[in-house]
Amino acid sequence: MSLWQQYLRPQSLADALDALSALGDSGGAVAVVAGGTDLLLDLDQGRHSAVQTLVDVTGVAEMLEIRHVDDFIHIGAAVPLREVIDHARVRAHATALVEACELIGGPQVRNVATLGGNVAHALPAGDGTIALLALGAEAEVASEKGAIWIRMEDLFVSPGEPRFDRAHELVVRFRFPALRDHEASAFRRIMRPQGVAIAILNMAARLHVDGAGIIQEARLAVGPAGPRPLRARAAEQAIKGNKLDEATFSRALDALSGEVSLRTSPHRATVEYRSHLLKSLLKQTLEVAMSRVEHAV
Ligand SMILES: Cc1cc2nc3c(=O)[nH]c(=O)nc-3n(C[C@H](O)[C@H](O)[C@H](O)COP(=O)(O)OP(=O)(O)OC[C@H]3O[C@@H](n4cnc5c(N)ncnc54)[C@H](O)[C@@H]3O)c2cc1C
Repeated sequence: MSLWQQYLRPQSLADALDALSALGDSGGAVAVVAGGTDLLLDLDQGRHSAVQTLVDVTGVAEMLEIRHVDDFIHIGAAVPLREVIDHARVRAHATALVEACELIGGPQVRNVATLGGNVAHALPAGDGTIALLALGAEAEVASEKGAIWIRMEDLFVSPGEPRFDRAHELVVRFRFPALRDHEASAFRRIMRPQGVAIAILNMAARLHVDGAGIIQEARLAVGPAGPRPLRARAAEQAIKGNKLDEATFSRALDALSGEVSLRTSPHRATVEYRSHLLKSLLKQTLEVAMSRVEHAV
């Protein structure tokens, strides 16, 4: 049996929102599709309720742009990951995001999968999601009533559940502050070698360091470390105002260990193994980000 009965491919945001609104109001089951790399598997394997209509957003012009606007980099939610990775502005301003996207799936997946889909799928360890969180990103969420910017850390409720209504609302684009001088980011993840699409642990950091080597601003995100992608605020506070030495690292690790909620997942890792990995992942991620700041000077 077909997984859907009707397939729409609007070319503008207004048309996409009209379609979602009309279909939702008529009681028909509707879902947004971008690359389909999560959704089609979920439909096929019964993890997503049955749908009547798919609204494909990959032709929506407003969702396909990458732009530098004032001091922000904007990335359309329906831009395929391959284009995100190759874009000069993204490469210059968001190394963590490029590194995360380069690790998602294989070439076929990256040719169609999108950041909008990665974020809307709302897994606590989505690689693109964790990178965007550390970059300080916000998502523009639009409905028939208008559009608002929501901080990434406020975008999730529980595993698989974003704060917005996927049947009526769209993530249009993401934005994050462009890189200043003395600033850099990094993404690292630990993965099982055999084809499981979700990380054992992933982490991203963005550091702003002054001329004396003092970290003026730190953003850190980690997954899976709880029901939602985690912005590690306590660890950030432990890092801020200090040089990246052993004492700072040790305080950051203590703070991070106190705010993550790690668990055993049968196909990936035990809680003990994840706790053990936290230290080396934190060290690697911070050191790589710091060395990038130093080399950029
Ligand atoms: C073989 C394979 C390997 C993978 N490896 C990884 C990996 O290493 N790391 C990783 O993080 N993920 C991985 N994934 C998961 C997946 O590829 C990513 O999450 C991808 O970014 C999803 O994007 P998509 O465009 O395909 O989303 P879709 O499948 O089209 O949509 C996913 C969900 O988001 C909703 N949605 C999509 N776009 C929007 C929008 N703009 N606004 C509102 N809702 C929207 C859909 O309705 C659906 O609920 C893998 C998947 C496969 C099949």
